[in-house]
Amino acid sequence: MGENPLVENGQVVTMDYTLHVDGEILDSSEGHEPLEFLQGTGNIIPGLERELYGMTIGESKKVTVVPVEGYGKLDPNAFVNVPRSQFPENIPMEVGTEIQVNDPQGHEMMARIDQVETDSVRLNFNHPLAGKDLHFDVKIVGLRAPTDEELEHGHAHGAHNHE
Ligand code: ZN
Repeated sequence: MGENPLVENGQVVTMDYTLHVDGEILDSSEGHEPLEFLQGTGNIIPGLERELYGMTIGESKKVTVVPVEGYGKLDPNAFVNVPRSQFPENIPMEVGTEIQVNDPQGHEMMARIDQVETDSVRLNFNHPLAGKDLHFDVKIVGLRAPTDEELEHGHAHGAHNHE
């Protein structure tokens, strides 16, 4: 690495970030450890990763990521009406409640209650951030070469134990 490393593929990037959606702060590294990831491997959403190339340590940037490069467009086919009688009684029938659903193959899927009618409940299987513009404030705070193990795994390990 040179004297003044830039963000490029195969580098471990350490980054402070704040995510605003619909004018609210949804997520931030402030008060936590910064995010660490291996650039160029899709560890972070594509629309954000692309904007980081060429940045250097200490540099800040505002990045807006549109849905197709973030968590996808809102899929109208991902709303499903389910008879209310199929829900266990301990699940609160309130808009926004997250529930886990098994598909016919037994895969676990997360859904949110989108609408409650007398006899049926509409579930939304879209990602909570689908259809949203994501506004990031980012600051590069570190750049380093990956370890052989990180390269092999395709992600940064950082100070944390391997999951
Ligand atoms: Zn690993």
